[in-house]
Amino acid sequence: MTAVREIRGIGEKTEKLLKRLNIETVEDLIHHYPRCYLIYEDPVPISRLAVWERCSVAVRLDSPVNLSARGKRKVCTCLVKDDSGSLFMRWYNMPYLRRTLRQGETYIFTGVPVFKAGRLMMEQAEISTPAQYREKRKTFQPVYPLTAGLSNKQMQKAIRGAFSIYDSPDYLPETVKNYYSLENEEKALYTVHFPEDEETLLRARERVIFDEFFRFFVSMELVRERAHKTLNRYLIPMDDRVREFINGLPFALTGAQEKALEDIRNDFSGTTAMNRLVQGDVGSGKTIIAVISVYAAVLAGYQAAMMAPTEVLAEQHYDSFRTFLGGYGIRCGLLTGSARAGEKRKIRQELADGNIDVIIGTHALIQETVDFARLALVITDEQHRFGVRQRDALMKKGEDPHVLVMSATPIPRTLGIILYRDLDVSIVNELPANRLPIKNSVVGQAYRPAAWNFLQKQVSMGHQAYVICPMITDEESVELESVENYTKMLTADMPPSVRISSLYGKLPAAQKNEIMKEFAGGEIDILVSTTVIEVGIDVPNATVMLIENAERFGLAQLHQLRGRVGRGSAQSYCIFISGTDEKEAMDRLAVIGHSNDGFHIANEDLRLRGPGDLFGTRQSGTMDFALGDIYANADVLKMASEAVTQLREDGFNFHELYGYGISDKLNYAQDI
Ligand code: ADP
Ligand code: MG
Repeated sequence: MTAVREIRGIGEKTEKLLKRLNIETVEDLIHHYPRCYLIYEDPVPISRLAVWERCSVAVRLDSPVNLSARGKRKVCTCLVKDDSGSLFMRWYNMPYLRRTLRQGETYIFTGVPVFKAGRLMMEQAEISTPAQYREKRKTFQPVYPLTAGLSNKQMQKAIRGAFSIYDSPDYLPETVKNYYSLENEEKALYTVHFPEDEETLLRARERVIFDEFFRFFVSMELVRERAHKTLNRYLIPMDDRVREFINGLPFALTGAQEKALEDIRNDFSGTTAMNRLVQGDVGSGKTIIAVISVYAAVLAGYQAAMMAPTEVLAEQHYDSFRTFLGGYGIRCGLLTGSARAGEKRKIRQELADGNIDVIIGTHALIQETVDFARLALVITDEQHRFGVRQRDALMKKGEDPHVLVMSATPIPRTLGIILYRDLDVSIVNELPANRLPIKNSVVGQAYRPAAWNFLQKQVSMGHQAYVICPMITDEESVELESVENYTKMLTADMPPSVRISSLYGKLPAAQKNEIMKEFAGGEIDILVSTTVIEVGIDVPNATVMLIENAERFGLAQLHQLRGRVGRGSAQSYCIFISGTDEKEAMDRLAVIGHSNDGFHIANEDLRLRGPGDLFGTRQSGTMDFALGDIYANADVLKMASEAVTQLREDGFNFHELYGYGISDKLNYAQDI
């Protein structure tokens, strides 16, 4: 592994900035793929501009550029026109524009129109002369995930630099490469960053995506090898006491929950250790399955651990475990990164002494200092958020413990067969009987005032609501701005008694937690948020989910978001506001508008999207591959799966690949 500092032109400052993006080595840079490519389309008339949608306008500069100072910032503004209307432009800290932009000339400005101070404007637009624009029209400009202080241009330069010293042999066996006529690795990687045309880009992406899937399957293969060899060291009976516990629950288990428990009971008493995935739709009640399994393990004299991807989720699970198990004398503990050092030490001590029966936590659980006395069961919730290594690390805390992983991501059967290979799967495809189906509506932006009215009505009935803000880019400043702006507008519209708060990814974890806790505790009525709330949150009193720009999300993600409501006995509603009336987008939204069944939606998603969705945002939100999308690239997924099976049958030693740096690269693919 070569450090980024070895690249010419990268100094201490850039090194630091890159580190913020988790980029430390040349390899990291090479695998920092563009989030999309800019292609320069025909300019649109000003009258047809759409908010938040990047576009270009061809305009005349009728008046000189105006320069003013705002605090320390110098601001250039001007009003520009085309035949259809006028548009306000603004640039910060570029005072020279006053000289370089000439009155009477025509320019093409490219940017994202926003609503500010009651009018439509474009800020920090990219400036081209008509001749420059004609040149740009032929190119693909890679656009990278960035961090404040690092420009896209600098990132491009750094990546070019990385390639100039990158030298790594293609790890893929020649036979596989030939059989599937795949591009050479290094060439493919380069082309993904700097494509010449669409055709070569497609071919390059196919190779890189193949690699992601291939590594994923290799990691599965390694798990499989181990799973089939691991003897069951911990016989855990699911006896009458467990049945009594189930009978004492405030609800009856669904048939699907009973079935999953039956599978687990068989695993617990089988000859090899459990290695099971519980896959259930959102709200199908997976947590209680974990609770019951833990209860059985503790009765048998063992400890159990459950890891969740966020602190909020971990705390929520901790509360559930205490509610369900506290009365049975089971000692529960919580371990998260934000706990005080003294508290953490105490918990670790109790774990090591065996005074805690079940520990719930975040990544903090897999730190070296955490030891168990008699760990026999490890559970990972929302497993697709964890990497192979993290899951492995949790497993290594015990000696061949039983492993249970939970996923709320319905995957179509056809893909499931490929993805899960030999893993044991229990499917929980039934919702608890007390639920009313969520009522859905798919509407245009004109409906927004009515939607807000509806929110207010639900709040006045004592319920709570989520609003998911328009998604623009993943640059932090814009994220913040959109959530803040939206919150302001909504607050102005609602009576002062309605308590509104906002939540977005870049907030410090502690603050995020605080806000989520307040919402869960009913102290916030409406939570305006980006998609950070997506994972597993359970607030049964929330009855409305309003999603702005619903067309920009994948169906699977929309389904996850919707799953935050309809978790109690009150009628819940999901309003999808679409920013477009394009047929394709509307067809997709119709699928989710008509069905609450995650498995059905996943199937339709696969059917509607088909392969080769090149410029679309990554939609599945299912498994975090950097480029690959199990839906859009289902064909490549199948290839990679076949290739690994073939290699296995040929007696190929996958550990050999481990030696080739595969183990590090495995981090790019997420385990299932
Ligand atoms: P998920 O499968 O999305 O993780 P949870 O486990 O969070 O769902 O369960 C959602 C809610 O449903 C919880 O409040 C849980 O207590 C409740 N629940 C679970 N099983 C049942 C059941 N059989 N009947 C009624 N409510 C249930
Ligand atoms: Mg859950």
